[in-house]
Amino acid sequence: MADPTSFQFDLPPKPRPAPHRLEEKIHPRAWAASGACASLRNGPLDEAVRVIVIHATAGSSTEGAVSVMTEGRASFHWIVPDENEDAHGKHVWATCPEALAAWHVRRSCAHPSVCAGATNLNRLSLGIEIVNAQSGGDAFSQWQIEAAAQIVHYASAKYRNLVHVVSHARLDPGRRTDPGANFPWTEFQWLVMG
Ligand SMILES: [Zn+2]
Repeated sequence: MADPTSFQFDLPPKPRPAPHRLEEKIHPRAWAASGACASLRNGPLDEAVRVIVIHATAGSSTEGAVSVMTEGRASFHWIVPDENEDAHGKHVWATCPEALAAWHVRRSCAHPSVCAGATNLNRLSLGIEIVNAQSGGDAFSQWQIEAAAQIVHYASAKYRNLVHVVSHARLDPGRRTDPGANFPWTEFQWLVMG
């Protein structure tokens, strides 16, 4: 079994790819809630983003995951819907403006290979949630893996300082295992790196 705390790769140096269009739709309830569960970034957005963090919801629905935002407990920038949801195969949901630092990693979390061990990574990152139970037989769909890779392509083209793609488990190994051992990290990396 893959160890999610090992999941990381770094994007190659510039030149970046040409601008990449993302099939996304704004999730109205999450977007409306984001102002109360996200923070301002430090400095200009195009320089601030250095990390993408891959999460899985440990739940079974987009709406369940969005409820953490409407309750003001946590937030993330996109969510990739599950196989049994209408949006699956069509688009990802944008849930928080990229200009805001979503609350998806605990402030104290760090890893030596991510921004030289910096803490407060929310200010430096974008967070992707993928709807998956993270248990037993719930495999990620091929479309979910490809959709997450498309988000990384999009962000890589947009943010010149974006380097690190990392699992939540790697940043918070004592509390988190997402996106879980079922997530095909090697294939995901291959899709991102081409
Ligand atoms: Zn997570």
